[in-house]
Amino acid sequence: MTLFDSPAFEGHEGVHAFADEAAGLKCIIAVHSTARGPAAGGCRMWNYPSAEAALVDALRLSRAMSYKNAMADLALGGGKAVIIGDARTQKTPALFEAFGGAIEDVGGKYWTAEDVGVSPADLMHARKRTRYVAGLTGHPAASGDPSPVTAEGVFRGIKISVRRRLNRDLDGITVAIQGVGHVGAYLAQKLHAAGAKLVIADVNQDALRQVAEATGARIVTPGAIFDADAEVFAPCALGGAINADTLARLKAKVIAGGANNQLADPEVGRALFAQGILYAPDYVINGGGIINVAGEIRAIDQGEAFDPAWVEMKLDRLLQTLHEVMDRSLAEKRPTHEVANEIAKARISLAAQQKAAA
Ligand code: NAD
Repeated sequence: MTLFDSPAFEGHEGVHAFADEAAGLKCIIAVHSTARGPAAGGCRMWNYPSAEAALVDALRLSRAMSYKNAMADLALGGGKAVIIGDARTQKTPALFEAFGGAIEDVGGKYWTAEDVGVSPADLMHARKRTRYVAGLTGHPAASGDPSPVTAEGVFRGIKISVRRRLNRDLDGITVAIQGVGHVGAYLAQKLHAAGAKLVIADVNQDALRQVAEATGARIVTPGAIFDADAEVFAPCALGGAINADTLARLKAKVIAGGANNQLADPEVGRALFAQGILYAPDYVINGGGIINVAGEIRAIDQGEAFDPAWVEMKLDRLLQTLHEVMDRSLAEKRPTHEVANEIAKARISLAAQQKAAA
């Protein structure tokens, strides 16, 4: 199969591959769409088994960013960078400087930020060679850790979902949270403050202990979280939490959490709908983090300081979009993930038409 025939390539504007032997850099920058604005999406460093695996991941993630940015109503398209290498042993300042040079070569069509395996300290090195870097700290436009904003969006999204599906507020509702890392821990605090009861699971015992002490959450093993007696299941760990096996065990009527790629496949999304479980599409409900990053890009572009009020305005708009997805799902009797994909695609193609006509 050639690159252009690959299903993952479909819809992409461009794919850029860079190598710098001296710096140890091998990276791919995929630009899915710039219809709504420059493509934005984090950089992942991962020890991919092959260049092909890295390419497929870059393409998959960049398209997902187009959809996420469109649903967050940002003037940004979707892109993603992947660096091939072991983030524990192969990171050097020279590698990230070379990565900055690669971004610069893409000519402003792609803005990077952090993702798995890449920290703000790494991106500081990239910043020496290009301005198209967000997610840094220590300058007036900097947006800081996006996790609290992601958690705030997820919290409000859970509140909306519980109101719509169960006609209740959060007081006395039980929420099972899978993963209490950055997003999950902030989310637990907010839910606790709203009177929810919590059941939590993680593979990190320290994280579990801290959240349980702060919120009174009941701890269960990672395997048992799917059997918890809870009205809401909030995936906040890795992707693929909802599959045919776990779905058969879940008692929740609402699935709403911060993790990316929660559905193992589209079929499981249809099964959720058929069973009357309200699913808040992941890339809609977890859009707070990219809104925060977009606030930084906007501030850098305009030469201004980061504006939390703009982020709040966009977060509010994101939750209106979540309502729109759920309204249409109800009216058209179709799963929420399908409706969300359709709205995202329509927003992107409208922007492309407007750009072509301008
Ligand atoms: P994190 O690494 O801080 O937290 C993930 C937690 O999940 C960790 O504590 C980890 O130990 C735990 N975990 C791993 N495997 C598990 C398992 N099998 N069972 C239970 N727990 C397990 O990451 P994060 O920043 O909190 O992000 C969580 C999820 O949200 C990820 O899918 C991420 O892509 C997504 N996300 C994060 C943000 C953000 O702003 N941080 C924004 C959008 C989406």
